[in-house]
Formats: sequence, structure tokens, C-alpha cells
Amino acid sequence: MSGDREAGPPRGLMLLAISALVVVMVCSSGLLVIGGAVGGGLTATPPPTQGTPLRPDAPVPPQYLSWVLKAGALCPELGPAEIAAQIDLESGWNRDAVAHNPASRGGDAMGIAQFQQGTWASWGGDRDQDGRNSPFDAEDAILAMGHLMCDLAEWASQNVEAQHLRGDLLDLAWASYFCGRGCVLAAGGVPAAGLAHDYPGKVRERLAKYGAPNAGGVPVGPGGWTLPLKPGTYSVGSGFGNRWGRLHAGVDLMAKTGTPIYAAAAGTVLDAGCTSAYCDRPGSLNLPGCGLRINLGHAGRIVTRYCHAVRLNVREGQRVAAGQIIAWVGSTGHSSGPHLHFEVHHSAPPASNDNAENPITFLRKAGLRP
Ligand SMILES: [Zn+2]
Repeated sequence: MSGDREAGPPRGLMLLAISALVVVMVCSSGLLVIGGAVGGGLTATPPPTQGTPLRPDAPVPPQYLSWVLKAGALCPELGPAEIAAQIDLESGWNRDAVAHNPASRGGDAMGIAQFQQGTWASWGGDRDQDGRNSPFDAEDAILAMGHLMCDLAEWASQNVEAQHLRGDLLDLAWASYFCGRGCVLAAGGVPAAGLAHDYPGKVRERLAKYGAPNAGGVPVGPGGWTLPLKPGTYSVGSGFGNRWGRLHAGVDLMAKTGTPIYAAAAGTVLDAGCTSAYCDRPGSLNLPGCGLRINLGHAGRIVTRYCHAVRLNVREGQRVAAGQIIAWVGSTGHSSGPHLHFEVHHSAPPASNDNAENPITFLRKAGLRP
């Protein structure tokens, strides 16, 4: 790949790379709670593991599998499937790949993870301890990519919190891997156009090939439907019906931030994105909208809707399988704490209050026990 590469941050940032993911959520009391190891562990909330495991038939060359698994275990944001998808995009698993760039743009991108010399000086090294330190040493390069990507995810998280950046943490980290931190900071997020804009989407496209579609193992019923959250990870909160003079058109499933959300049936992503004023931090009851929201279209003109996610795992137009992870629970939009607001609509799209059905009733009819 070409482009101005990651310029090599101060070494001190490396320490942060192994810190746990910082999750900020607003409790119903309005108190800010910071989960994770940063800051000495203010709460006992474990950091969510958001990385994607490999699917059994993931086309990772067998000689690299153990290194992809190591790189995918360095931080909770990135799993082996994210690492594999990015290497696939960078080099197609060619350890000898070279992309020529002028010296003014950092010089040649080298090896399986397409490191440029300056970035390798900061992040490379003989990480597999075979006596060779080179971006063309695939094992070194896979581990170096993992360390750098974890640092970029942490860097993105801090900058989103400081409101210097907006957007999905992994998209920001991927864009920074491609065009450098300065490029992403200057754009205030993933650049609006060009190769750096396209890069995160290209990694996500490849994620389907490598990532386990049903990593959490939610059981799919005989009619092809499944619960949107894994049993045991949630409790049923506010139900379907009139609430404060308005129709609450779905059910609130209370769960921790970072809990995987599953496609309730096979279908197509009708839309996936932010439906509130902002979605890069927790919302509030003063904010309208559904936050980070997905609408899935299913057979029989049924639409399911998933609101308030902290992060999305699918894009508009994508096909999904029943039980595939589509997002993670959060508290974006009109929300006072982490939960999944889940809706079911008939004779849709469009989904509206008029065609909303009680999701609990619907899931029971599908043979499930929500
Ligand atoms: Zn709700």
C-alpha cells in the first residue's frame, strides 16, 4: 500500500498499548465510570473483549497461524480476525511484498504487514527472537503490526475521549495505520475521501472471510431466529408498550457495555450508523435518537432494529447470518446506561411505530425463551 505511513510515536505510548480498553459509560445516576486497567482500576468492571476470533475455515496460511493468534491477543480491541484481515489487505500474505513509495512519503512499504523503514524503527524488532530483525521477517512483522495497532486503538480512544477525534476506534486505528496519526488528527477522524478513507472499509470487507460469524455461540431456533443477546448476558428491562405517553416500540435488554449483539436472523443490513447528534461517547436522556443503530431486513418483510451500540461490526448492504455479531452493547443516543433497545417490525421497511410488534412475544413465537 502507498501513503504516508505511521510516523512512529513516542516510545512511552507503547506502555499504553497493553493497557486495557477504556470504556466510559454513564450510569443512571449520571456518574462517570471508567472501566478497565487505566488509572489503576477505578471499578471492578472487566474490559470487554471486542476482538473477533478466527472462523474455523479462515484462510490464514498455516505457518503464520500461531503468530496471528499471538498478535490478536495483545489487546481487547483487536482479535486474530482483525489482524488477519489487515494482513490480507496489506500484502495478501506475501512476506516479500514491496510497494514503492518516494522517500518523501516514507519510502518503500515492505513485507507482509507493509512497514516503512521509519515505522519499523519504532515498532519492529526481532520479536520472534530468531536472530533476524526485518519487516520481511513475517513473524516479526505480524507481531509488530499487533503492537502498533493496539497502540493506535488506545491512542484513538484517548483522542475520542478528549474530543479531538470522532468515530469508531478500530476505523480510526486502521486509518492511522495507513496514513499516520497526524493525517487522522488533521481530519478529526477517518479522512473524508481518498485511500485513507477507504482503508478501514477494505479491512472490514475482509473480516467476514476471517472472523467467526457466530463467535458467541447463540443458539438458533428451528425457524432461523435467535436471541439478539446471549442468554445470561442480559436482563429484560423496560418492555414494549406505552411509556410516558409514548409508544416504547421495543424492549430494553440490560447488559454490560461491550456485550456482543447478534443478528436475530439471517438478512441484509438496511442501514448501520449514528442516528443521534453524536455516537462517539455515551448519550443521555437529553439527547434524542437511537445512537449507533442497525436495521436488518429479513425474509417475510420483517425488520429488526438494534439501538445504542458502542460499536458496529457491519456495514450497509452487507449480508448477515443468524447469530452473527453485528455490534456491541453501549449507551449511545437517548440512553441513561448500557442496554440494547431491540425492535421487531412487520410489513417493513420502513420500520415505524405502526408496524412494531412486541419483540418478546415475537421471539417466543419463534420458539425462543427471551
Ligand atoms: Zn428502549
